[in-house]
Amino acid sequence: HGGHLEVIVGPMFSGKSEELIRRVTRAVIARQRVAVFKPAIDDRYHATHVASHSGRSVEAHAVRSSEEVRQLLRGETPLLSGEVELPDVVGFDEAQFFDAGLVPLALELAHAGVRVVMAGLDLDFRGEPFGVMPDLLARAESVEKLTAVCVECGAPATRTQRLIAGRPARYDDAVVLVGAQESYEARCRVHHAVTR
Ligand code: ADP
Repeated sequence: HGGHLEVIVGPMFSGKSEELIRRVTRAVIARQRVAVFKPAIDDRYHATHVASHSGRSVEAHAVRSSEEVRQLLRGETPLLSGEVELPDVVGFDEAQFFDAGLVPLALELAHAGVRVVMAGLDLDFRGEPFGVMPDLLARAESVEKLTAVCVECGAPATRTQRLIAGRPARYDDAVVLVGAQESYEARCRVHHAVTR
């Protein structure tokens, strides 16, 4: 049967990794061939696994670019040439950190019959669309938007609150701050704050 693109989005702590792990584990149980990739910058828990905040995990390749994913999938021969057997399911975690080449790769894989499952943040800490995610969401056959629990009021949380030394981050702060005293919380629209 045909390939397609599934996208799982939501703020931090909404269970995106858990849901990706759930879908991938079911495929493995059904003896489907599965490959999971994640950006090398995310070394949460284990460099060769996708791990959820609640502790479950699956094996994954940590990669530096979408091109590296292509290389891993094709081995020596060109991707999608018909000479290489592609996995039945290809998963990506933290998809928002991938380069723009992730979109054509996802479409090529889906076109070649692969079930592509992407998990990532739809919004950055400012509440703005995050990287390649809007493009993936628009092109997906299926989209699941997950919510966490707002730490301020208990409402469904759709935003990721970034705190620097305990205070809301500034709009102009770099998305990746090295060595900063930063932390993240799940919050609803009302309690999400960004300092201008
Ligand atoms: P994501 O990949 O979206 O960051 P994970 O799958 O890694 O999410 O983690 C989801 C888990 O995070 C939940 O099952 C729960 O155990 C934990 N968690 C921590 N804080 C919260 C919160 N504010 N709301 C919901 N779950 C939370």
